[in-house]
Amino acid sequence: MVLNRVIHIVIHTQWAKYHADNSENKNFSSGVFHTVFHVVFHTGTMNDHTYPVHSSVSEPAPQETPATPVPGVDETDRLAQASVYSRDPSANKEAAGLSTHADGRTPGKGMVVLAAVPIGNMGDASARLIHFLATADIVAAEDTRRLYDLANRLGVKVPGRVIAYHDHNERFKADALIDEVMRGKVVLVVSDAGMPTINDPGHAIVERAIARKAPLTCAPGPSAVLDALALSGLPTDRFCYEGFVPRRRSECLAYLRRLRSEQRTIVLYETPQRIHDTMERLSETFPADRPMALCRELTKDHEEIRRSTIAGMKQSVQEDPPRGELVLVIHGASDAELLAHPGASQELSVEDAASMAVRQADEEGIRMKDAISRVVHDNPLPDGSLMSKKEVYARALALKSRGRDLR
Ligand code: SAM
Repeated sequence: MVLNRVIHIVIHTQWAKYHADNSENKNFSSGVFHTVFHVVFHTGTMNDHTYPVHSSVSEPAPQETPATPVPGVDETDRLAQASVYSRDPSANKEAAGLSTHADGRTPGKGMVVLAAVPIGNMGDASARLIHFLATADIVAAEDTRRLYDLANRLGVKVPGRVIAYHDHNERFKADALIDEVMRGKVVLVVSDAGMPTINDPGHAIVERAIARKAPLTCAPGPSAVLDALALSGLPTDRFCYEGFVPRRRSECLAYLRRLRSEQRTIVLYETPQRIHDTMERLSETFPADRPMALCRELTKDHEEIRRSTIAGMKQSVQEDPPRGELVLVIHGASDAELLAHPGASQELSVEDAASMAVRQADEEGIRMKDAISRVVHDNPLPDGSLMSKKEVYARALALKSRGRDLR
């Protein structure tokens, strides 16, 4: 057994050196990480059946491929990983957070576990994710092929039953999964990337677990929301996550007009196909000078953070279309902005809008029609719709003629 481990170390160290010689430095670190991981992992397997070697899944596992080098895993990560695993099985359980539960439950009894998976960099996989992949009775995965790919890349076997659990079936499957939890099974829920339930399946089983009082826990980890927020440089003390903006132009504009008066930092998910439309619509609804950040390919080799204003970002997106996965982070409305444009935060009457337009037309020497357009546009109603320009125009004319009569 000792000889086996020595051979393992030698093979993997050579493999890591090969990568160091043939690629960037960081691949050496990831190679070493791979070595340390395998050595310690296999040691755990030999001593503790918590980490089974053989897979007996209901859907055939694709051929295992060697774990690929992990970009971005540095020496500190490697040491952190190495220190998580121990030859002492109880230490492993403790590292995975399984030795005790805050509510006193016995480890190993049925529960639902939501586990975050990496959003790009395999080095972000937590010790608890790996543990649950190796020990769960059932793995409910958004995409089973991606689950096996993830497991192969992490060098972990998945012995539990793997089922497809996605947006289209999660409501139908949730109760059957809770039945299994009630029978003492551990059901692991994972999505393709990041945290389950965050624009991904998982919410239905959480609801059913709560309703049926089934034990429910989470192995937290990567999620693009917090990663982008932290890197944006915008205030993090208060923020709101809004997912993807609606696709249809009219719905999207109404939605953004409602968001415009939001004072917390706003986080939106986006795709490269729709970023141009979204920037166009943001420019139509938000002040041009509002600071924002575009966070691209987080945790991956081509990670990029662009920081600018809404007008500047629109131009940047036109000149250099961003590819890959995107998150937009937008500064919330300032007090001064809300005072200048009460809009959605404080409903403006047609009368108020008309008198604002008359005042602006007089003070700035612009046409009444233009002043009305601006006031209506800058002050959406609470539901994001715009008040009728015709009504405001009629009111403005009445105000002007009353002013003449009073003179
Ligand atoms: N559950 C995931 C999470 O916790 O972040 C989100 C899944 S959602 C279906 C996919 C969206 O998340 C992408 O369109 C993108 O907006 C964002 N996203 C996921 N990974 C990302 C990454 N590495 N970089 C930037 N955005 C990412």
